[in-house]
Amino acid sequence: MRPQDILSPVPAGLFCKPGNFHIDPVRPVERAVITHGHSDHARAGHGAVLATQETLDIMRLRYGENFAGSTQAVRYGEEIRLGDVTVKFHPAGHVLGSAQIAVSCKDTCIVASGDYKDVRDPTCAPFEVVPCDVFITEATFGLPVFRHGNAADEVKKLLASAALFPERAHLVGAYSLGKAQRVIALIREAGYDAPIYLHGAMEKITHYYQSRGIGLGELRPVRGTKKADLAGAIALAPPTATSDIWTRRFPDPVTAFASGWMRVRARARQRGVELPLVISDHADWDGLTATIAATGAGEVWVTHGQEDALVHWCQTKGLAARPLDLVGYGDEEESEALSESEEA
Ligand SMILES: [Zn+2]
Repeated sequence: MRPQDILSPVPAGLFCKPGNFHIDPVRPVERAVITHGHSDHARAGHGAVLATQETLDIMRLRYGENFAGSTQAVRYGEEIRLGDVTVKFHPAGHVLGSAQIAVSCKDTCIVASGDYKDVRDPTCAPFEVVPCDVFITEATFGLPVFRHGNAADEVKKLLASAALFPERAHLVGAYSLGKAQRVIALIREAGYDAPIYLHGAMEKITHYYQSRGIGLGELRPVRGTKKADLAGAIALAPPTATSDIWTRRFPDPVTAFASGWMRVRARARQRGVELPLVISDHADWDGLTATIAATGAGEVWVTHGQEDALVHWCQTKGLAARPLDLVGYGDEEESEALSESEEA
């Protein structure tokens, strides 16, 4: 069977005709298979949703009890038959519960990896290389200039700054799902054991991580804490909150931002970030190219991000490659809109 007869891009997302389901659909569909809980991949309003238990829980936290007609939790490694195909979930190493979806039909296997990273993250299962015929990869950081380095070293910079300015608060902008919890876990691994403060918009998700056994130490809400008590403290907030009026409750805050984009100095300056931290939940250039090679795929389909350079790289390696031109997938590292209901 030709791969494009198994999975093909349609306006609602990636559609599997022989299995009658969409992967990470951007419009409401009858049956959705969801890779992870970020809002551009996991939307409310589908009929049936198949995802890991964590992704389903995260969707429930974000959208409420009735986010889908029905749900089915799938474990990593479990094989599910859908129509004429089998579907298997493998860890993607991106955020808690994130999965790559392997779709097999007869003797052809396609892996839709969603968002992924191939480096250590204490808050989720490690990325697994899945041998396949066609590998579908993101390309958020698909340019050779993007090399993320070691996240633990970036956290050391944050702790060094906190030690240097004990009278100032350190306010770290980090995406609410995944990044924030990873940064906290890395801070704890570095030996910092004082309470860490949270913006209200990230409390629910962070407490969910704790309920799944992810050790994050003592966490306190920023809300209700006196300004003087925040001197010398580390607080995490969604990126948009770090540039708004909300920051006035901190004593002379040092503004940090944890994102792969912080490799680009101009971006840090534009956002008024004093302390850029290059920490990404997406594979960097070396990670993308090493992963593509490791899958053994002869064909690569590139989705959202900087497709051109990665497609070109694949072609120089003798692999068939093309961009999928899917629309509707953003970049959670860049920004995060706060919904009206979220308390500061
Ligand atoms: Zn994501």
